[in-house]
Amino acid sequence: MSAVVDTLRLTAEEAIGLVERGDVSAAELHAAYRDAIEERDGELHAYLRTVEEADGTSIPIALKDVISTKGVETTAGSKILSGYVPVFDATVAARCRAAGLTLLGKTNTDEFAMGSSTENSAFGPSRNPWDPSLVPGGSGGGTSAAVTAGLAPWGLGSDTGGSIKQPSALCGNVGLRPTYGTVSRYGVVAFASSLDQVGPVAKNVRDVALLYSIIAGRDPEDSTTVELPGAVVLPQEDRLEGLRVGVPRQATELEAIEPGVRAAFDVALTRLEELGAEVGECELPRAFDYGIACYYLIATAEASSNLARYDGVRYGPRSEGTTYREMVERTRDEGFGDEPKRRIMLGTYALSAGYYDAYYGQAQKVRTLIVREHADVFGRFDVLATPTSPTVAFPIGHKAADPLAMYACDLLTIPSCLAGLPGLNVPCGFSEGLPVGLQLIGPQLSENTLFRAGHALERSLGLDLVPERLRT
Ligand code: GLN
Repeated sequence: MSAVVDTLRLTAEEAIGLVERGDVSAAELHAAYRDAIEERDGELHAYLRTVEEADGTSIPIALKDVISTKGVETTAGSKILSGYVPVFDATVAARCRAAGLTLLGKTNTDEFAMGSSTENSAFGPSRNPWDPSLVPGGSGGGTSAAVTAGLAPWGLGSDTGGSIKQPSALCGNVGLRPTYGTVSRYGVVAFASSLDQVGPVAKNVRDVALLYSIIAGRDPEDSTTVELPGAVVLPQEDRLEGLRVGVPRQATELEAIEPGVRAAFDVALTRLEELGAEVGECELPRAFDYGIACYYLIATAEASSNLARYDGVRYGPRSEGTTYREMVERTRDEGFGDEPKRRIMLGTYALSAGYYDAYYGQAQKVRTLIVREHADVFGRFDVLATPTSPTVAFPIGHKAADPLAMYACDLLTIPSCLAGLPGLNVPCGFSEGLPVGLQLIGPQLSENTLFRAGHALERSLGLDLVPERLRT
């Protein structure tokens, strides 16, 4: 590995500086990451496949395998898409390319981004760089593990109910789920369209802000997108005077939160106060009482509709059958794993005539209440803070057989997703030697405020986020 490029510590901003000043060539930079992948990805399985395409001045990036990449296989972690090679780039992939970023590889994900550990990937789980016997979180565990283990300077994930924020918390890096509608989903494999958002993962808040500025903004190919109201501001300030931070009582009183996570969170709140922020309590009862139930009706309903396109005709492999119906049935039976099947059945049930009003209709009403509840709270606070995940990284296999335990991983990340709000995970300490993340939630389009708060906090805490076992 090149002596000047320590991929475990180098930020993307620093990498750009090295290449711009000519201290390191783009080819050397890519080679350093490829060496790191060679050395460590056999154990971590962050990547499903890597790509060799470095050119003159480019900076490498890892993309979650739900993002279509022209000429590069894109599977969404599913057998039903194996061998599928898109003929176009997703808008986010095209924007990265236009900004001089080159694809290092496609990262592992739970099948169709359904999961919280990457154990639902049809191609085997990824592992946590802090301890390979533990999960890296999910569904974006591949991107998150890659960033923490120095296998990519930064990457993109997708977040429906927590798939960027939760793996960032479990691996100890920074991840942003942007405001719904600020980043294009054109060319992104759909899970639940009223919730899916693409967002950046990196070592620090400034890198996340920089990558967000590259991918965000209106895209004529995705009619749900909007132009950002102003420029993305790379955070610089170290003080937080005047920032009002609300802490939802329900979120901190949850029994599911491990004592070590609570302790690290409390220390971070005190730090926010020392930085000049005003910290106060607020109430979000419906969001935390009904968020998960509401999400698992809406997300499964939308998934059952989105996944209907995988029929053995349009994409990927086809199983043989004597009739069209038999061919489709066999393709789906053999192509989908257990979790997508479970969700297709749940969603189809929730949308069926006779049950539609009782389940899907009710869930949509509850969602509206959750939106309003957040809007009320943002009359008094600029941002909300909660732990991101109730637990630190857990052992592979620990929750795999219990879908409800797995669903509870996103207890704290889901409510704001239902409300379309941006959320940032910032590492805030350690419990049992593993990273703990703090989630900052803001009103729509408040990314700059989240960046400012997250940056001041990370600078003040000054945590060493290189896993101990990888430090040299
Ligand atoms: N873990 C949640 C789920 O399984 C969220 C996944 C995501 O955000 N894609 O649906």
